[in-house]
Amino acid sequence: MANDILKVLIIGSGPAGYTAAIYAARAGLKPVLYTGGQPGGQLTITNDVENFPGYPEGVNGPQMMVDLQKQAERFGTKVHYGVVTSVDFSGYPHKVIVDGKDEIIAETVIIATGATAKYLGLPSEEKYANRGVSACAVCDGYFYRGKEVAVVGAGDSAAEESTYLANLCTKVHLIVRRDEMRASKIMQKRVEHTPNIEIHWSSETEEILGDDGGVTGVRIVNNKTGNKKVLPVQGFFLAIGHKPNTDVFKGYIDMDDTGYIKVIPGTTKTNIEGVFAVGDAADRVYRQAITAAGTGCMGALDAEKFIVAKEMEVVQ
Ligand code: NDP
Repeated sequence: MANDILKVLIIGSGPAGYTAAIYAARAGLKPVLYTGGQPGGQLTITNDVENFPGYPEGVNGPQMMVDLQKQAERFGTKVHYGVVTSVDFSGYPHKVIVDGKDEIIAETVIIATGATAKYLGLPSEEKYANRGVSACAVCDGYFYRGKEVAVVGAGDSAAEESTYLANLCTKVHLIVRRDEMRASKIMQKRVEHTPNIEIHWSSETEEILGDDGGVTGVRIVNNKTGNKKVLPVQGFFLAIGHKPNTDVFKGYIDMDDTGYIKVIPGTTKTNIEGVFAVGDAADRVYRQAITAAGTGCMGALDAEKFIVAKEMEVVQ
């Protein structure tokens, strides 16, 4: 494969990458997709996905990713397990190195590398992952309706997720590590005016408690007084930010100060001709499977248009 020039190379195997692959394959572009280090992406660490339209009974996240891969392969996508370790977008066509050794040359590259939720790094977080610990209130909040939950964080995500959960849950404890929130004033006001949200200022999570059935509480400590208390919650939501998986593209692609790839609004075009960014790698706000899939489709259509325009240039 080393010397073949691919028409479409897709990097990443979440809903954005596979949707781009389905569209590119059906357009006859013979896409090649590299999965990255977490084949299937963030949905492989979720249980049921109940908000993806078309599944009235919900769908198991890992199964959905297997199905998406099969659908992409059915139309001729070549899926390879491998991690992109460096790129060279300084010329054309584009060069990408996989696993530190294999050089891939492609007319277009669709970046669908996603983002990773940040965790506190507590062993108990891992222990109860998917059994009460979640990094996505919109995805998992519904499973905690009528229950008591905690959210950690103090930015817009924490504010938004707390108010979202307050509509479903009996009580939301918001754990804020400083004595102020970083969230915008309007979102903070919304939190403060929601009667079933209690803010625990200057507080840090010491441990998530649980049993065989999942999370049963969280122990927090006030970092000014040293006082500890246990909040009797069944759900623990992380909202301390995400990190886009875009380090490998630094220096080539325009990004914002936190690493999200900049695209021309309403498109998936980056500052590099023939390189497109889709899904969470370019989306700091919505971060849903359905929006990722939507932009994956856009990426394939943008790539196809680009390829056709290039071919016209050659003919003229
Ligand atoms: P941010 O980076 O803005 O905020 C992260 C928050 O998590 C901070 O308040 C930080 O605390 C806290 N935090 C970080 N690490 C820890 C830790 N180890 N323990 C406890 N707390 C911790 O991330 P967001 O996801 O909230 O927002 C990302 C971007 O997306 C922002 O630009 C935001 O405005 C935007 N956004 C916009 C929305 C909207 O407009 N509807 C909705 C959601 C996000 P500290 O303040 O002490 O550093």
